[in-house]
Amino acid sequence: MNALAPSGLVAVIGSGAMGSGIAQVAAQAGHTVLLFDAKDGAAEKGRSGVLAGLDRQVDKGRLTGTEREAIAARLVVAPALAALADARLVIEAIVESLDVKRQVFSALEEVLATDAILATNTSSLSVTAIAAGLRHPERVAGLHFFNPAPVMKLVEIVSGLASSPLVLDTLYATARAWGKEPVRATSTPGFIVNRVARPFYAESLRLLEEGVADAATIDAVMREAGGFRMGPFELMDLIGHDVNFAVTRSVFDAYFGDPRFRPSLAQQELVAARWLGRKTGRGFYDYG
Ligand code: NAD
Repeated sequence: MNALAPSGLVAVIGSGAMGSGIAQVAAQAGHTVLLFDAKDGAAEKGRSGVLAGLDRQVDKGRLTGTEREAIAARLVVAPALAALADARLVIEAIVESLDVKRQVFSALEEVLATDAILATNTSSLSVTAIAAGLRHPERVAGLHFFNPAPVMKLVEIVSGLASSPLVLDTLYATARAWGKEPVRATSTPGFIVNRVARPFYAESLRLLEEGVADAATIDAVMREAGGFRMGPFELMDLIGHDVNFAVTRSVFDAYFGDPRFRPSLAQQELVAARWLGRKTGRGFYDYG
C-alpha cells in the first residue's frame, strides 16, 4: 500500500473548521497544500487561523520557528477551483449538502487529471451518492477527519459502492503517513462514529428538553463519571449546531425516519437563532 508521495500536491476545498485543520495536517506532513473556499476572504482567514495555531506551538516549544516557516510556505491560498488542476488528492470539506458537494465534484472533474483522488470529509452523507453521476466515481472515497483535525488521530476511510480498492488503500496509507489512525467503513449513514454519536447527542438533548438536568450537569456527569473528554453539549458547541443538526437530519432521513435518530427541536432553535456554538460566540454556553 503506497501513500501519496510527499511531492504530491494536495488541495483542500472549504476552509472552515475542518478544511483549515486538514490543510494544516497535510502541510505539516510535507505536502504543498492549496486551500480554496468559495467565500471571499475565507481561505485567507482559514490560513491565518492555522498560522496563529502554529505560532502558539512555537511559543510552547513544540515547533521551531524554521518548521513554522516551512509549513506556512507550503500552505497556499488558491484563487479559484481551476487553480487546483495539478492536485493529486483533493479533500472536500464544504457545507454538509449533497447537492452542493455533487456540484463541486463535477466541477472538479473538469479541471483535474483523471487519476487524481477525490475525497470527501462528509460526516454523514452517502459517499456513493456524492460520486454518482461522475465520469470516474471509482476515484471518490470518504476521508473523514474529526474535529480538531490536527489533534484527533482517528480518520474514517469510507468506501462508496464504486470506490476503487487502490484509492481506498492509498487514502489509508496516506492517513497513516500523516500520523493518523485510519479505520475502514462502508458508506452508510453516519459511518461508525457519527452513527454511535447520534443517540449520544439525542438522549442528552432529550434529558435537557425534559428538564431532567441542565447542560452543565449533564456535561460534568459524562466527563467526570463517564470518562468522555468532553460532555455532549460542549462537544456540540465545538462542532457547530448548524453542522451537527444537518448531520442528525441526514442520518435520520437516511434511516427512513428511525426515531432513534430524531433531530432535536431545541437544537433547531439554536440553529434558527444562529447560536451555533463557539464559532459564533454562543450556543448552549456563552463564549462572549
Ligand atoms: P464550516 O461551516 O466551518 O466550513 C465550511 C466552509 O466551506 C465555509 O468556509 C464555506 O464558505 C465553504 N464552502 C461552502 N460551500 C462551498 C463551495 N461550494 N465551494 C467552496 N467552499 C464552500 O464547516 P465544517 O465544520 O468545516 O464542516 C465541513 C465538512 O466537514 C462538512 O461536510 C461536515 O459535515 C464535515 N465535518 C465536520 C466536523 C465538525 O466537527 N465540524 C467534523 C467532521 C466532519
